[in-house]
Amino acid sequence: MAEEIKETTEAQNEEKKKKKKEKKKKLALGRTISNNMFALKEIWKGSPLYIAVYLGSSFIYGTFDFLTEGYLLRRIVNGIEAGESVTALLRYVFTLAIIILSVYTALSWFWNVTSPIQSRKIGAHIEKMLFRKAAKVELACYEDPAFYDKYVKAMDEAYDRILKVMYTLDNLIARVIALSANSILLFIIDPWLILFGLFPLVLGVFRRLENIAKHDHKTAQKPINRRAKYVRRTFYLGEYAKEMRIGEMYRRMLDELKDIYTDFKAITLKYGLKRALARFISNVGLEVVTILGAMLYAVWKTVLVGDMTIGDCIVILNSIGTISYCLNNMVQNLAEFGEHSLFIDDVRYFLDYEPKMKEDENAPAAHGGDIVFENVSFKYEGAEKETLHNISIEIKQGEKIALVGHNGSGKTTLVKLLLRLYDPCEGVVKLDGMDVRDYRLSSYRDNYSCVFQDFKVFSLSVVKNVLLRRTTDEDNENVINALKESGAYDKIEKLEKEIETTLTREFDENGANLSVGEQQKVSLARVFAQSSPCIVLDEPSSALDPIAEHKMFENMMRAAKDRSVVFISHRLSSAVDADRIYLMENGSIVEVGSHKELMEKEGKYAEMFHLQAKNYVGGGDK
Ligand code: ADP
Repeated sequence: MAEEIKETTEAQNEEKKKKKKEKKKKLALGRTISNNMFALKEIWKGSPLYIAVYLGSSFIYGTFDFLTEGYLLRRIVNGIEAGESVTALLRYVFTLAIIILSVYTALSWFWNVTSPIQSRKIGAHIEKMLFRKAAKVELACYEDPAFYDKYVKAMDEAYDRILKVMYTLDNLIARVIALSANSILLFIIDPWLILFGLFPLVLGVFRRLENIAKHDHKTAQKPINRRAKYVRRTFYLGEYAKEMRIGEMYRRMLDELKDIYTDFKAITLKYGLKRALARFISNVGLEVVTILGAMLYAVWKTVLVGDMTIGDCIVILNSIGTISYCLNNMVQNLAEFGEHSLFIDDVRYFLDYEPKMKEDENAPAAHGGDIVFENVSFKYEGAEKETLHNISIEIKQGEKIALVGHNGSGKTTLVKLLLRLYDPCEGVVKLDGMDVRDYRLSSYRDNYSCVFQDFKVFSLSVVKNVLLRRTTDEDNENVINALKESGAYDKIEKLEKEIETTLTREFDENGANLSVGEQQKVSLARVFAQSSPCIVLDEPSSALDPIAEHKMFENMMRAAKDRSVVFISHRLSSAVDADRIYLMENGSIVEVGSHKELMEKEGKYAEMFHLQAKNYVGGGDK
């Protein structure tokens, strides 16, 4: 027991050390620069015009700030003190004002017209990059919480965060210019004043601590926010509506909200206190030491010592504020680069992720053929037990195969392996005599037309929902025939825009909200419209009534001709016409044969079939 506790503590320490090391690595200056450069490069790729004008404008703003607040003020006050003519001073002011106004007018066009268009262009570039990667990420990644968190963060924040790097750089440039100009001015007046200006740099440490706490705070909040979003979804998504009204489900969800609030509060207290303390120290330091200190020094030199002009004293009072504001802002900017880096690190982790299932352009294409599972075993990541054990099956091209068995027996998992959504842990899946891992992935998957149990229709036209690709008018006839075969056309032809109707009303008020059964028929039309060598159906008839289901299977078998069909169905009556039936139990195949053979065998299949038939006769289909 003591040994066990020691081992656990050691493991925890090890884990802590690893996390610390990881954090240190993330904070390393080199990494911070590289991550921020990455962001700037991506903005440049999205729109060089945007970055050029944006950063150029910060030079202009910085210079104008100095001209108006520092240089001009000193020039006027000292000019008046020296008895310069008002006309000369006014000419000076007007010339500057005209220059500034003309430049601001040009920039205002940029901010209001060019900028929104260009920043959307950058957004599209970043989204394209992320979505391309997202489409390649294996299903297994969705089950790895650490990866999934980074994935969600990348999707959620990449665009904003990448643009923020440019905003920070823009701010930094403007501040550097204003700071340099004002510092030179102060240095000319009195070199000692620079000391007051430099003090905010010391406070940078606290700003950095505050930003690290901010990032940790956000990271800790992520899983809580995800839970909260999930609870929200259960209240507004139609798919939960029925269950939420039965029993006490909505109360359980409200309890969940309460737990979320408690966790949220605990986390906010933990990190909020750190953030507040760091901010307090840096603010007090800035206000008291820098601004008040310099003011007292200037007043002392002007009033008591008497070797400073009133003009210079006013400029100091004005410039020291600007300098400390700039320095404070610059420190904040540098800390922000660190903060951006932590987030961009996650984005890059996601973008750099190399899917284990790769698309190898040089690998051969698949063109159908016999499918063979040879001693295949499979275990989900993190699961304790294998879901499939030692499965061996053979499906000749053109055969119609049914997979039956109780829930959880492994039928869907077997189909996922067939589609290469996962690879086996042991054994091999072959197509036409070759390991499926050796085919080009996209070409291998094109071999299958599928309808899943949890099928989805998209908020696009019926045609696009059936073909799942770019479409032309020539596709219409094919789509209409497929809809007829799947039994969906009766409904679709009555819609005002027929196959051009948008499914769902989410974005189109003239769209069609189909029933689940009708949606399933539209999904089924996909397999009729495509001509892939193999059709895979995972409970394709779950939302259909028995008559519609029977008709659908009849059509499917006729339309499939020499295409292979692998289907999972909970109604054994639909398996009757299959060339072969595999009965699965606890991840293994326990019976194989045609319906007739299995009935004659009087084993488990026959028992299940009789039981279901009795339910039919008894009027239930359970
Ligand atoms: P069936 O299709 O026969 O109902 P499945 O293949 O869906 O069975 O599931 C078989 C077993 O694998 C079940 O015990 C299920 O809980 C488990 N399982 C399914 N998907 C996952 C997953 N993504 N991660 C871990 N276990 C899973």
